[in-house]
Amino acid sequence: MTRELARTAPTGGLGQLPERLAPQATTDLICGFCATGCSLRVHLRDGHAVNLSPTPDYPVNLGMACPKGWEALTPLAAPDRAVTPLLRDATGTQRPVSWDVAIDTFVHRFRDTLERHGPESIAFLGTGQICTEEMALLGALFKFGMGGLHGDSNTRQCMATSHVAYKESFGFDAPPYTYADFEASDVLVFLGSNLAIAHPILWQRVQRNPHRPALLVIDPRRTETASAATQHLALRPKSDLVLLYGLAHLIIASGWHQPAFIEAHTTGFAGFREFVREFTPDRVAAETGLTVGTLFRAAETIGRGRAVSFWWTMGVNQGHEAVRTAQAVINLALITGNIGRPGTGPNSITGQCNAMGSRLFSNTTSLLGGRRFDQPAHRADVARLLGFPESSIPSQPSLAYDQILDRVAAGQIRALWIIATNGAHSWIDRAAFRRALERLDFLAVQDLYPSTDTAQLAHLVLPAAGWGEKDGTFINSERRLGIVRKVARAPGQALSDFAIFRLVADRWGCGPQFAEWTSPAAVFRILQRLSAGQPCDFTGIRDYDHLADSGGIQWPFPQPEGAPPPDPSQPASPSSERRLFANGRFFTPDGRARLLFEAPRPAPESPDRNYPLILLTGRGTSAQWHTQTRTGKSAILRQLHPRRCYLEIHPDDAAQLGVTPNAEVTVSSRRGSLTATAFIVATVQPGQVFLPMHYPEVNRLTLPAYDPHSRQPAYKHCAVTVTPLPPSSGSHL
Ligand code: SF4
Repeated sequence: MTRELARTAPTGGLGQLPERLAPQATTDLICGFCATGCSLRVHLRDGHAVNLSPTPDYPVNLGMACPKGWEALTPLAAPDRAVTPLLRDATGTQRPVSWDVAIDTFVHRFRDTLERHGPESIAFLGTGQICTEEMALLGALFKFGMGGLHGDSNTRQCMATSHVAYKESFGFDAPPYTYADFEASDVLVFLGSNLAIAHPILWQRVQRNPHRPALLVIDPRRTETASAATQHLALRPKSDLVLLYGLAHLIIASGWHQPAFIEAHTTGFAGFREFVREFTPDRVAAETGLTVGTLFRAAETIGRGRAVSFWWTMGVNQGHEAVRTAQAVINLALITGNIGRPGTGPNSITGQCNAMGSRLFSNTTSLLGGRRFDQPAHRADVARLLGFPESSIPSQPSLAYDQILDRVAAGQIRALWIIATNGAHSWIDRAAFRRALERLDFLAVQDLYPSTDTAQLAHLVLPAAGWGEKDGTFINSERRLGIVRKVARAPGQALSDFAIFRLVADRWGCGPQFAEWTSPAAVFRILQRLSAGQPCDFTGIRDYDHLADSGGIQWPFPQPEGAPPPDPSQPASPSSERRLFANGRFFTPDGRARLLFEAPRPAPESPDRNYPLILLTGRGTSAQWHTQTRTGKSAILRQLHPRRCYLEIHPDDAAQLGVTPNAEVTVSSRRGSLTATAFIVATVQPGQVFLPMHYPEVNRLTLPAYDPHSRQPAYKHCAVTVTPLPPSSGSHL
């Protein structure tokens, strides 16, 4: 995969590469796609990135990378990179302008809106794809400097559920595990997680498990992961909460729970035991479509397991009762004492490369460092640590993504800033998203490409540098901070997101307030200060080099009490693996984990005569990343998946509908329709169909329903109908 990063644009908005790279043949940086957080070794020639390979000894990926990682440099060289700011003129055409004009326009439009309509009339939608230092600067600038109130991130679409579930159950958003747990379990339970495809390197870690573990996969589809299961619980879509309560009941009734652990470390067990009594095997079997025997076998495997780990992703997080479902998983781990030991844990696997950074430092739902906006003591803390007036810290959290869009649609939010996310493709019910954005007085989109569905709608496009073109840190799923380096120049006049935020701050007039926020490294030190004394304390990290030399460092990594600041001359010695709750103490005021539960509710849209099939959505292949904004630039990755949208449908349904293999079909919901190629497969159950989320038309169909606690969209379930089209002239695969 050797390639020179061809540049079609004039020389770099970011100037020369840092001196430190010149003599080096290689440098390591964390991959910018998924939250596995693999380290990639970039090979340099004359200071330019020319190739990469997986870092052989990094504790996360152990010398492996998935197809996206191998192709990580390719999107940087795409011919359609944004190389200059673009401003829409009176004819509606986006035309190149200078940075001066762009930032003047941005500040004028946002300030004017704010002054005329108040602080709730402007908002931003950020991302889990930029560095922690950048998202912290964005959140702090927007709320403490510009005086806005509402900002959210596209992490709302993937991780809000886990964030809320952990916070409520453990007292802090704290995924407790380390990746070594994949290799130490004797029972692994995967819920709504097609790990083999979505997190292929973590799947390799499972393959390394020497204990011949039982593998329980809870998923309506026989996914690649489910195909390898020792027990596949192919339940009805969105009956997972009922199943989990039923398993808890069977485990308790069979005496496989751990009373001593429950007594010492949890609250709410008596109520929980009483509550789950209603979830008898017969009821659960009837509601999930599983047999009573399957339920007993799964409960016994979990109940008798020595080290049981539970792993969930979007099949849980993207549901109408997602938080309670995630907490039902947490409850299973707690009542069986499967936490704080090797090979255990209720473990949410994150999606985006820096969703965990966003959860701690985006300053949207949570105040910086996992604090709360509505707690005066937390606001005072942050104000003191930043040297800002306390009055500059809002006392209310941001509206969630969907609520921001509702206000946009209602004409209450009039200026919106979208950073590194393509909501016009990815947001649930995309037609509603577009309708809302068309109501805006001003839309600024900051991205690598002016060609995304969202950037095409913008009044102003701000050209941003990508992964590999800037410095900073990411935090991966297992809480490991890792380093991102600048190994290539951004094209044309593109600037790092950090530099763009600094330009806005200076032009807004709040530059002096952010005088200390001069560089990513300076902001990293500020974030360390903000983490001090919090569960995520990482004050013991010396600097970026310490992270690089250590193979990343998992939080918490506090400076030992009474110790002087880290000594740069001392070698780094963090343990390479660290899990939480080994001492049985949680982050709640009484130190106990909470068992939280709630009666299941029916899915918001059920199949009927007109829309008789349930649509499931999810990841298609390991070669595709979300909206394909970047992976779609790689000719190699494009070879690894069907070019056009495809529908997976069961042979029985296909026969009944007259759908033949590879036929063109229309898939329709109450919100819209699309055309797809039919793949007739028995991996979906009768009555269900599956569409991969990577194709822009898929969210024409999805139902805008949300979990009430996390406001995360319920992408995984809506009603559709499928109609065959007349045969067309040839294959579109
Ligand atoms: Fe690793 Fe994820 Fe990057 Fe693939 S996309 S190389 S699994 S971090």
